[in-house]
Amino acid sequence: MKNITILGATGSIGSSTLSVISRHPQKFSVFAMSANTNWRSMAELCNKFEPRFAVMSDSVSASKLKHALEIDTIVMSGSEALCEIASHHETDYVMAAIVGSTGMPSALAAANAGKRVMLANKESLVLAGEIFIGAIKKSGAELIPVDSEHSAIFQCLNGDTLSNEKGVATTDEVYSSVVKVQLTASGGPFFRKPIDEFMSITPEQACAHPNWSMGKKISVDSATMMNKGLEAIEAHYLFALHPDQIDIVIHPQSIIHSSVYFKDGSTLSQLGSPDMRTAVSYALSYPTRIESGVSPVDLTKQSLDFYIPDNKRFPCLGLAIDALKMGGCCMGTINAANEIAVSSFLENKIKFLDIHKVIEQTLSLVPFSKNESLAQVMSNDELAREVASEVARSYA
Ligand code: NAD
Ligand code: MG
Repeated sequence: MKNITILGATGSIGSSTLSVISRHPQKFSVFAMSANTNWRSMAELCNKFEPRFAVMSDSVSASKLKHALEIDTIVMSGSEALCEIASHHETDYVMAAIVGSTGMPSALAAANAGKRVMLANKESLVLAGEIFIGAIKKSGAELIPVDSEHSAIFQCLNGDTLSNEKGVATTDEVYSSVVKVQLTASGGPFFRKPIDEFMSITPEQACAHPNWSMGKKISVDSATMMNKGLEAIEAHYLFALHPDQIDIVIHPQSIIHSSVYFKDGSTLSQLGSPDMRTAVSYALSYPTRIESGVSPVDLTKQSLDFYIPDNKRFPCLGLAIDALKMGGCCMGTINAANEIAVSSFLENKIKFLDIHKVIEQTLSLVPFSKNESLAQVMSNDELAREVASEVARSYA
């Protein structure tokens, strides 16, 4: 029996995780869960899964949750409590599924404590990739990607000589047989929309993803393709790849989740329905496989198309790749600017087409630093948020 801590239990990945866990009560038990402020949803989940600990972002939601519970779950609040459940000695596996850079400290706490880290929160690696990977290596933690593209690459690599029972990034083995990886992108809801109609895109349109059902922030990131840029950075850290070894292709059906090209001419891809329960269940069951509730694809009923992304249509993608190549604090800067720009867009304060302008201007205004310590990472994040908020205000 493995004790699972779910950071971000009320979200889209949180609910996929609970769905897979529910199918395997003999294998997994929910030890701790967290949510932001939605105490009603959290109360339902706690009454159903009976975790030992529940953590809310603030004390007001925590006390409301406490009163709504029929069981004696210990309710706590705040970021220290999040790190506590992520690193608790009775926690075996941690699902890091809080959205945004707020999710980084608790994911890092799990990494430092040597847990199996099932990483959905890609922002952790974008913000503090080197520190995060360093923590995994030092503590001997297992790092299993949950992002569907990275789970796909991980699954393709496990069929090759790179298989590593400790998950990714714990090996110093040089990935000498890999020529490149290719991340697939759906292209989001605006892949075929005329560019001159982009000015009037609403948050509702941007959140209506054609294939995946996800939280709002990642849905907007998919519409701008910033999501794929963040994923290129994520792949760079997870698989120790040079930026030139990371390729991106639009595949509107979202059936091939990503591919690895090897030097002997072989390409391995992982295919499946666009349902996160597959990647979640693989992270839970690795190195074996368990039932996830997802039906396999029927290739006789499925065409597979591929297109090269258009940089004019998706300028955020190019900005993220530039930041990856620039290195240092630039990835943290674009991540912070993107979070500010996306929340301003979701609050109807700026237009869809302003998102990339806020990011680009913030990147040019925040001075370059190497970002070697966690303190530097956090102070750069704070500065980038201040700058991005000011830039966003100028578009409001
Ligand atoms: P979501 O918005 O559906 O859920 C986010 C969760 O984080 C919720 O439980 C929420 O309560 C919690 N949360 C939000 N703000 C918080 C805060 N300030 N403090 C503490 N908790 C907070 O998001 P999601 O779509 O499940 O995505 C979660 C993460 O997984 C993101 O990093 C995303 O990029 C990544 N991811 C998601 C998908 C997907 O299909 N949804 C796929 C790949 C990767
Ligand atoms: Mg993804």
